[in-house]
Amino acid sequence: MTLPAIAPQPGIMEIALYEAGSSTLSGRSDVLKLSSNENPFGPSDKAREAVARAAHQMHRYPSTDHAALRAAIAEVHGLDLDRIICGVGSDEIIHFLCQAYAGPGTEVLFTEHGFLMYRISAMAAGATPVEARERERTTDIDALIAAATPATRLIFVANPNNPTGTMVDLSELERLARAVPQAILVIDAAYAEYVGGDYDGGAELATRLPNVVMTRTFSKLYGLGGLRVGWGYGPRPVIDVLNRIRGPFNLSNVALEGAEAAIRDRAHAEHARTENARLRGWLATALAERGVPSDSSCANFILARFADATTAEACDAALKADGIIVRRVASYGLPHCLRITIGDEASCRRVAHVIGQFMAGRGDAT
Ligand SMILES: *Cc1c(COP(=O)(O)O)cnc(C)c1O
Repeated sequence: MTLPAIAPQPGIMEIALYEAGSSTLSGRSDVLKLSSNENPFGPSDKAREAVARAAHQMHRYPSTDHAALRAAIAEVHGLDLDRIICGVGSDEIIHFLCQAYAGPGTEVLFTEHGFLMYRISAMAAGATPVEARERERTTDIDALIAAATPATRLIFVANPNNPTGTMVDLSELERLARAVPQAILVIDAAYAEYVGGDYDGGAELATRLPNVVMTRTFSKLYGLGGLRVGWGYGPRPVIDVLNRIRGPFNLSNVALEGAEAAIRDRAHAEHARTENARLRGWLATALAERGVPSDSSCANFILARFADATTAEACDAALKADGIIVRRVASYGLPHCLRITIGDEASCRRVAHVIGQFMAGRGDAT
């Protein structure tokens, strides 16, 4: 007897697998990985110590309500802890939002060069992903408003955006949320910590408006990408919905303790932020002088722009030959660009040197 083929839900088989930034080059042990926007200084020592201590408690189930971590987040950011939900990276919060609010017959809207997880999570929920064009690699609020329909349930805007590094004003995001009241506007603020000034990632908007949620992560500035901790902040009814589909033990006690210690170490966070800003400015200028422009970035990477896809590919090959891995972003609709994470000072100098040699060798540096 042959069994009937058991098909997954509609949309699942159309998902293109997420490709992470690679981390190895065959035959090399001195690889410089600048492909995943990781903090070159690593996590706070206090986070390392907390993780080591928590390892002794591995036989215990972790907290289900994440009360201590939520309290630390609320304290540091001046937020209401009842409106915070923690997840296995902000990826899980994005997933919860799609699972809870999107589905067959609904649309999930994001921008042309938006984060690949929006499309993946939307399709996993059976929803239709919809892209709005950007203007010069920057979120275009009018294009998003024009692309919204009565079926739109979620709008994802990373601000700053990955892989472009550009951002828009919060007043513009408020205009979007008000223009599309049938949808939740999710402000993905994974890189908010790098912006500085009074940028709050959309926290105030998520406090004031009924259809705005902000997501944050410990994977970038806090250097804990391997631990998998993120969080969301929004209206209480939305957080209540998300908590119903959250696994009760989604975060390990190791992850919870590590993240709490990390966010309480303000000196480490401030050091990572100021060093990034300094080196990002240096690298952008150095590459521009070598004929490789980039948009002004607010995050911990820059998007280096080349004349065409062939040149970007050749430069990527030259970097690899020197043991440097950056991110090709053709899958983000940017085949002529390379996304380069801001490393420490020596790494930035090494990248600038190799790209400079590559451009000089081509004889078309401007
Ligand atoms: C890195 C990143 C995240 C964070 O993902 P985690 O699951 O928290 O590691 C979210 N959004 C964007 C745009 C990112 O680049």
